[in-house]
Amino acid sequence: MATFDPATQPLPSPQQGAGLRKVHLEITTDCNLDCKMCIRHAWRETRRSMTEETFAAIAAELRELPTVETVQFGGFGEPTIHPGFLEFLRTVKEAGWRAELVTNGIALSPDFADRLIDLQLDQLIVSLDQAVDSPGGVLHPEAELVKHNLRGLFRRKFLRASSRPEVAVEFVATAGNIEVLPEIKRLALNLGFTRIVVSNLVPYTLDSCDQILYHHWTSARADGRPSTWNPGIDLPRLDAWSKASAVIERLQRSGSNLTILGSSLSGEGQRCRFVTEGRAAIDPDGNVSPCLALLHDHEYFFRGQRRRVRAYRLGNVNQQSLAAIWADPAYAQFRERVLRWQFSPCIDCGGCDLRESNESDCFGNEFPTCGECLWAAGIVQCP
Ligand code: SF4
Ligand code: SF4
Ligand code: SF4
Repeated sequence: MATFDPATQPLPSPQQGAGLRKVHLEITTDCNLDCKMCIRHAWRETRRSMTEETFAAIAAELRELPTVETVQFGGFGEPTIHPGFLEFLRTVKEAGWRAELVTNGIALSPDFADRLIDLQLDQLIVSLDQAVDSPGGVLHPEAELVKHNLRGLFRRKFLRASSRPEVAVEFVATAGNIEVLPEIKRLALNLGFTRIVVSNLVPYTLDSCDQILYHHWTSARADGRPSTWNPGIDLPRLDAWSKASAVIERLQRSGSNLTILGSSLSGEGQRCRFVTEGRAAIDPDGNVSPCLALLHDHEYFFRGQRRRVRAYRLGNVNQQSLAAIWADPAYAQFRERVLRWQFSPCIDCGGCDLRESNESDCFGNEFPTCGECLWAAGIVQCP
């Protein structure tokens, strides 16, 4: 019988893992909103912002790394409320890097939109998961204000004949709002966005667990090679509304290897985009982590079960150069472990209590373990 052995899988090409290409810069953990779903409710940290000195150190160190292409202002906080944000953006653009901004869209006044156009921000990713204001839910509030701001930015871009920033919408999908997605899509014509990135709700409180849309989803068997116990099923095009969709859903729930015209319907199995795409994240104090998921200590619930995530910090840019942190053997070995995906499949297994934290797993891995990572499982997406 064929079995899946990650250790024998070919590694991604050196270009995919070797150089630092994208930095997620968290310049503040403060925000002008207080969404019920926010990860910051699952922290004990105090809110803080990056100093100009730390940002200057990062910018200088990034210049020493020729592989760097993109700086994304984001993380867990609202970058636009940092008083130095526009100057930071100017520095990034003057250095020749692609600049991206992840924002809740509250601060996008006409003046602010003009500044983003002046500075040639490349991509703006705005949270919009409701078509109209509906206070009291777990999602981002103020949908009407955000739509108004996006319309204003679209108009400013048109009047100034600017194609930048390209606008994408980030939609957090829940049981309560998934039916709104087609309506959000229709808004693109008026609001000027060209992409919707749908991610899932991560419940940080027990009472929001019933809102998730991944109760029955599985990955482990889907990333295996076809075998006699789980043969590949290659589908033709089918009507999405036909009887077939119920059957396909049943097959997906049981972890079948489904492809449609050769493309996987189950995704790629567990794969970490942060590591394979050469990304790293930096918090407001200058601490470097391999990804957003490991940037802060926090807790969340996965299918009703509490999980604790301990942050993994490889160094601090105020004490060591980013190049030295990236080249550190501990960091290089961790990236290698992630590329080879040598973790146990906790995401699909209810087997033991080890899945309650990222401290160790049943394959013998020690902290940090990634087998329970929602990002690598494709449940959470980051643009
Ligand atoms: S906009 Fe983002 S950072 Fe701010 S409260 Fe909402 S989820 Fe948290
Ligand atoms: S697998 Fe998850 S926790 Fe591990 S490095 Fe990637 S994003 Fe971070
Ligand atoms: S560590 Fe526990 S939960 Fe994870 S795969 Fe092994 S038995 Fe399952």
